[in-house]
Amino acid sequence: MVSTEYERRIAARFATFDQDGNGWIDREDFSAAAKAVLAEFATPPRSDKGQALYVGAEAFWQGMAGIADRDGDQRITRDEFVNGAVKRLRDNPDRFAEIARPFLHAALAVADTDDDGSATVEDTVRVLRALGVPEDIAATAAAGLDADADGRVEETEAVTAFARYFTVPE
Ligand code: CA
Ligand code: CA
Repeated sequence: MVSTEYERRIAARFATFDQDGNGWIDREDFSAAAKAVLAEFATPPRSDKGQALYVGAEAFWQGMAGIADRDGDQRITRDEFVNGAVKRLRDNPDRFAEIARPFLHAALAVADTDDDGSATVEDTVRVLRALGVPEDIAATAAAGLDADADGRVEETEAVTAFARYFTVPE
């Protein structure tokens, strides 16, 4: 099997979603992602921000399952991910942004540690690292996160950068 740069990037995205590394993506992976972000910022799961993140994670899972879980077994296999999610999301990045937005909105609220309405670039990169995004990709994403270079990450910037990352342009 020839391993291309494109396949390597797909594998990295799958690994990011498959938080527990058991070989498929399911609801548990999304709650694990929420848990990891909350732990990074020492935010209690039962707080308003914690609850919102879990609600966002569930919505993200439901959206991804709707797109990719073709056999309806509540698991997204690597094959379903590559042949379902990646292709469909690349064809329709707006759809991805829509299903990821509640989770990203809540994650940015967690990263907004001083509650001034937006997260810093640095704190947003902490979210990416907590989610297991590889270091080189997190650094590249950080530069793209603050599109207007004001040092703060707006939700639209985060959604755009996140969609670009996960829809894996060839
Ligand atoms: Ca998993
Ligand atoms: Ca499935």
